[in-house]
Amino acid sequence: MANQKQNKYYLTTSIPYANAKPHLGHAMEFIQADTLARWHRQRGEEVYFQIGTDEHGQKLFEAAEQAGAEPLSFVNEMSETFVQLAGDLNVDYDAFVRTTDAHHKKGAQALWQACEKDIYKGTYTGTYCVACELFYTAKDAVEGMCPVHPNRALEDLEIESYFLKLAPYQEKLIELIETDAYKIFPALRKNEILSFLKNNQLEDLSVSRPKTQLVWGVEVPGDNSHVMYVWFDALANYITGVGYPDEPNFAKWWPADLHIVGKDINRFHSVYWPIMLMSAGVELPKALYVHGFINAAGGVKMSKSLGNSVSPEEILQRYGTDALRYYLLRYIPHDADGEFGLERFHAVYTADLVNNLGNLVQRVASMTTKYCDGKFEIAVTGTPSHLDDLEDAAFDDALQKIWKELDALNEAIDKNEPWKLAKTDLQATQKLLYEWIGDILKLSAALAPFLPSTAEKIHNIFTDGRVDMHVGMLFPRIEKED
Ligand SMILES: [Zn+2]
Repeated sequence: MANQKQNKYYLTTSIPYANAKPHLGHAMEFIQADTLARWHRQRGEEVYFQIGTDEHGQKLFEAAEQAGAEPLSFVNEMSETFVQLAGDLNVDYDAFVRTTDAHHKKGAQALWQACEKDIYKGTYTGTYCVACELFYTAKDAVEGMCPVHPNRALEDLEIESYFLKLAPYQEKLIELIETDAYKIFPALRKNEILSFLKNNQLEDLSVSRPKTQLVWGVEVPGDNSHVMYVWFDALANYITGVGYPDEPNFAKWWPADLHIVGKDINRFHSVYWPIMLMSAGVELPKALYVHGFINAAGGVKMSKSLGNSVSPEEILQRYGTDALRYYLLRYIPHDADGEFGLERFHAVYTADLVNNLGNLVQRVASMTTKYCDGKFEIAVTGTPSHLDDLEDAAFDDALQKIWKELDALNEAIDKNEPWKLAKTDLQATQKLLYEWIGDILKLSAALAPFLPSTAEKIHNIFTDGRVDMHVGMLFPRIEKED
């Protein structure tokens, strides 16, 4: 996935739509991207990691109205909740793009102008979902309802619109995806898009709204009676964030090495975005990782009305940042949908973090204090090579491997019974403890991109040949809430 030869890595999350507060899915995407960013930094690459918020469009305008707020003050407030969440999740990003920023708007207009040979004005008639901000064909619709929002009837809409021609790029796009020149993964998502592209003649994409319908957007260059379709504006963030069209940073960072997005917006990123770039004569990003959704326990959709939705802040307050990072990276499959329920989360926290990792570090630290006067001698080493693999964003597999080694270490301690051995052979006990500290530090280095503050604590406990017991427990035991 990484082009290690270039020694630079530009990755982005999608930019969440700022019409509501962040949910667990946003938290997961932030954490996945942050883990990859840290992983690449750990390997000496220069990383640029961009997140942001999407702040225009009909749905947002309506949400602001409902909240009785001006759109801009509404998005200011909403965007701040995503900044806050990223901070609470220990997401170490380099830039936060807001599509209401003047610089972004200028860049989006430049992109439009670069696409101008493929843009024309026409009339659009279709059935539209306001929630998706998307026209759906009769084939997509489910008995007149939105395929994504089963409770939303599609509305008939006829508007004057600018269109972007897609068909001229269809064959080329198929080739780029098939050959992994634009790599879409996991394979399921790549095949889904290829099948769509091979079985449908792409229709021209409506890329503007008349201001009579919507004013909250980026003005179309040369026609102040239209604003850009929110997706045209939003997708542009990946290039405007690094200085498109003409800042030196753009040449340095573009093309992006990876976009991370959810499966619901795969098509925007694997069809519309690359075609916009081809039309504008801009290089395509190298890869797109498409993650699944988080459902409630039992695989049912999380929703406020069902009372089964869990907010990230709720978990963070009770269990801490690394506990949430761990669960989302390990137990939501990287290539499928996953489940999040409080019961399971609590069980995993206790088994994997308190009883396994936490207890291991605690045991070795206190035995070293007791039997080695708090001192140890080891040769410092890096990440073991068999754990040095995060290809295809397989966070779950990587953590599973690390936990297998933690299991083995715990078993080795139980088997060797150093508390007994110390009575007869103190030197052999010390030798074992040094070995285990070395193993813990190696695993901790492998763990650092996933659970950065836990890895830092472990490092602080075993540092400069001395055990520091003041660092405290990694994961406190937490009583289950009734
Ligand atoms: Zn919809």
